[in-house]
Amino acid sequence: MDEISVGLSTWKTELWLAARLPASAGTQAWLRDMLTTEVSALDELASRFRHDSQLSAVNRAAGRWVQVSWEFIAVLTASLEAAAATDGLVNPLLGTHVVAAGYDEWADQDSGITAPATTCDWHAIEIKPGQPAAQVRIPLGSALDLGAVAKGWLADRLAQIVHASTGADCVANMGGDLRVISPGEPWVVAADAGREETHMELDDAGLATSGIGHRAWEGGHHIIDPRTGRPAKTAWDSVSVLAGTAAGANTASTACIVIGDQGPRWLADKGLDGWFVGPTGERLVGRWQQLRHVDAARA
Ligand code: ADP
Ligand code: MG
Repeated sequence: MDEISVGLSTWKTELWLAARLPASAGTQAWLRDMLTTEVSALDELASRFRHDSQLSAVNRAAGRWVQVSWEFIAVLTASLEAAAATDGLVNPLLGTHVVAAGYDEWADQDSGITAPATTCDWHAIEIKPGQPAAQVRIPLGSALDLGAVAKGWLADRLAQIVHASTGADCVANMGGDLRVISPGEPWVVAADAGREETHMELDDAGLATSGIGHRAWEGGHHIIDPRTGRPAKTAWDSVSVLAGTAAGANTASTACIVIGDQGPRWLADKGLDGWFVGPTGERLVGRWQQLRHVDAARA
């Protein structure tokens, strides 16, 4: 079987979708349409830099109920699950903190978030069911930022759609948040920590790398420690995690950047596999050592 792939440069990163399908103009166009349609749909739901997104509407009306689509609720729910799984280390209410840390200035983009960094409990996010739309209310003074979870969520969604609709082996890599569904023949993917890579063969798994290198500026970077409200004082330049889904892997890799030197223990307690790379060395957790050996043997 052929392998076809399409790519898209957006969200200050690279998005990539590949499948084992017969190479033809038709399959290539189908895959491209899938990627561009889903990316623009997610952008309209959850981009903090689109003033017409549902997320921006919720943020502008903090303290009040706002009507949103059930698709928005799906992304928000994924973020709440990430918060619950990490005791709030991955926190959907850091919009004001990310802006205060200097992200918008660095990105030369305007999220329209002007409220000062205010710590609010993510448990206070409320969802009211309704048909055909739902409603959301966030605490006064707070702002949602679903950037951490959205790419992993989309990687899982794209891989599931491509596999369910064609039966083909496939991979979706949303800027380092990657999902493989490849029961036919394992797919070889690489975790990339900048200087080095670890390759692995996956049939159904998520792999995510979080890091402070790509989005950093004088005096700050883009991963906030919700306990301080400031860019995390982390021991790691990058953390890669292997898990069942891209969303799960990204949740864990982001949390590990936040908790720094406690990351390896936290990840081991979750029973996950990871690779921590810092200025003074690396730590391999779970089966990562084994992955390294297999990788070395294959090379
Ligand atoms: P990485 O590729 O390094 O994992 P992501 O883009 O996936 O980075 O996630 C980081 C983004 O999520 C930041 O740019 C910010 O918008 C938001 N964010 C920062 N810190 C947190 C946090 N502790 N919890 C949830 N979201 C965060
Ligand atoms: Mg991430």
